[in-house]
This record gives sequence, C-alpha cells and structure tokens, in this order.
Amino acid sequence: MNNKTIILTGDRPTGPLHLGHYVGSLRQRATLQHDYQQFILVADLQGLTDNGSTPQKIRNNIPEVLADYLAAGIDPSLTTICLQSALPALAELTALYMNIVTVARVERNPTVKNEIAQKGFARSLPVGFLVYPISQAADITAFKAEVVPVGDDQLPMIEQTNEIVHKMNSLLPTSVLSHCKALLSETSRLPGIDGNAKMSKSLGNTLLLSASEEAIHHAVSAMYTDPNHLKVSDPGQIDGNMVFTYLDAIHPDKAKVAEMKAHYQRGGLGDRTCKNELEMCLQELIAPMRERRATYIQDKGMLMAMLKKGSEEAHEVTQQTLKEVKQGLGLPVF
Ligand code: ATP
Ligand code: MG
Repeated sequence: MNNKTIILTGDRPTGPLHLGHYVGSLRQRATLQHDYQQFILVADLQGLTDNGSTPQKIRNNIPEVLADYLAAGIDPSLTTICLQSALPALAELTALYMNIVTVARVERNPTVKNEIAQKGFARSLPVGFLVYPISQAADITAFKAEVVPVGDDQLPMIEQTNEIVHKMNSLLPTSVLSHCKALLSETSRLPGIDGNAKMSKSLGNTLLLSASEEAIHHAVSAMYTDPNHLKVSDPGQIDGNMVFTYLDAIHPDKAKVAEMKAHYQRGGLGDRTCKNELEMCLQELIAPMRERRATYIQDKGMLMAMLKKGSEEAHEVTQQTLKEVKQGLGLPVF
C-alpha cells in the first residue's frame, strides 16, 4: 500500500463528455494521476436520479464515457476507473448518512436548487435527485479522498461532504472519514456554446470531445461576441465575449491571447480573425482525441473489462471504509 494522497472524481454517464469536462476537470486528472492515487467513478446511480425512466440511456453511455477518458489521456494503469452501481458500500454509506442530514439542509444546496428549477421538476422531483449530494458524500468518503478536481458547480457538494464527515466522525470513537477539498481548474465553469452560464449535457449546449470538424466550425461561427462591435475599427468588449472566454480556456499561448484582447479592446481586431484563431486551437485540441476515441469505442468489451477490473479494486477499498464506519457506530459486522 502506498501513502499517496487520494483523489476521487466522477462523471454521470448521461452522454459523451464535452469540452467543459475537459477544461474543468479531465485535463487536470490526466496530470494528477502521476502524483496521486486517483479513482474515477462512473456515477451511473447518480445518472439515474433524473433518468429513472430511461435506464438504457445511462447504460449506453457508460462505454462512451470510458472511451472519452482514455482519449483524454486517463491511463488505467495509473488511475482506477470504477462503476458506482458495482460498489454496494457506496449505497450503504448513503443510507447511513441520510440519517444525519436534514431535509432543510439538502433543500438549501444551491446547485441542486438550480438544477431542480432548470429541469422543471416541481412536485415530480425524484427523491433520489434531491439527496444526490448525500450519495456523492458517500462516494468521496468511501475512498477517503482528500482532493476532488471538479468544476465550480460542485463546491456546494464538497461543503456538504465535509459537514457529513465532521458529524459522522463525531459519532465514531476515532475519526474514520477524511475531510476533502475541491481542486478548481483555471476554467472552473465553461459556458455553453450558446452563451449559457454552463456547458452541460442536460442543456444541450455542448462541444463534445468527439465533435466533428464541421461541428467545431459551426459552433465557433455561431458563437456570441460583442453585439456592439460592428466595425473592425470599433473598440470591442471582452467581458461576456464567448470567443475570448474559450480562448482563455484552451489557447496554449497565454501571451498571444493577452495581446489579442488588448488589440480587440482598442479596436482594429475583427471577430472573424478571433474566431479563426479559436477554431484553429479547437481543431488542434479535439482532432487527436476524436481519433483515439473512435478506436476505443469500437472495442466495448475491452472498455467494460477495464471497468470491471477497476471496480474490483475499488470494492476492496470502499468495503473497508464501510466496515470501519459500521464498527465505529457499534453495528454488528459479520
Ligand atoms: P449533466 O448535465 O448530466 O449533469 P454535466 O455536463 O453537468 O452533465 P457531470 O457529469 O454532471 O456533467 O459533471 C462531471 C464533472 O465535470 C464535474 O466535476 C463538473 O463540475 C465538471 N463539469 C461539467 N460541466 C462543466 C463545465 N461546463 N465547466 C467546468 N466543469 C464542468
Ligand atoms: Mg452535472
């Protein structure tokens, strides 16, 4: 057993992964896997919390997400990739934690509140959806993860997890659970290609890591810039200008982006030139991922075998935590 700091992250298999995942979390995971003990959880149970009537959608997207991981540089010899529904300890810890969190507390979670409003659930809100932050706390703590590389929509989940850790540890004779911290990337929330505040599978405003050349071209052409920047010679606005937001997120040459911004603000730099630069960067970033992914997705057997192997490793780790929690609570462990 090594004593590297543990990382846990995950994604819902609700669709193939997109550029928001890449800049918000995936890019960091590919780097961090060299120095940390990293687990990635394919959160199929969490995916079902708002897809309860369409389980096939979740099932079908599992290999899609796995292919995206490999294409984005996740190396299964360095990172353990596992499946939430294959780890019963996560469900059991969720059941235990549900008793120490109030309804008022789950209703206060701003991300969940926002998602409930966006999805228009009203009284048809699934119970599982309301409490998914509790199951996420179970996921993180079962692995004793201390670092969680996520987008900023996940900050309320980390806060809630730490409250649960504090409360649960206070009920146990010795502290079993670890506190965790979010690791935000430079682009902790990439807006959608429609300019909506967050690129998200559910909002249908994504640029997939498997996007075709034409899809990339189309997304950039339709992108919102400064509506008052009519002539090339006009001074332009950077704030809220999607083209610059994306250039900030993905351009490898930060100095060049800074120079372009200054030029745009003083006038003389056209939207077309900026969009061409962005499209070139996106094509260069996505093409190799798209190609690798196309190969991986042809071998779903290999992808699922990788997930099974990772889940078996994760089973050991998570069962151990569950056992410690149960013992600490004085529950019989047979
Ligand atoms: P869904 O709409 O089904 O919830 P999603 O697009 O929000 O899907 P998730 O699987 O919920 O994706 O998120 C997985 C991880 O990717 C989380 O850490 C989340 O913070 C991060 N992430 C998702 N979208 C973005 C984004 N637009 N910018 C930065 N990070 C993001
Ligand atoms: Mg989400």
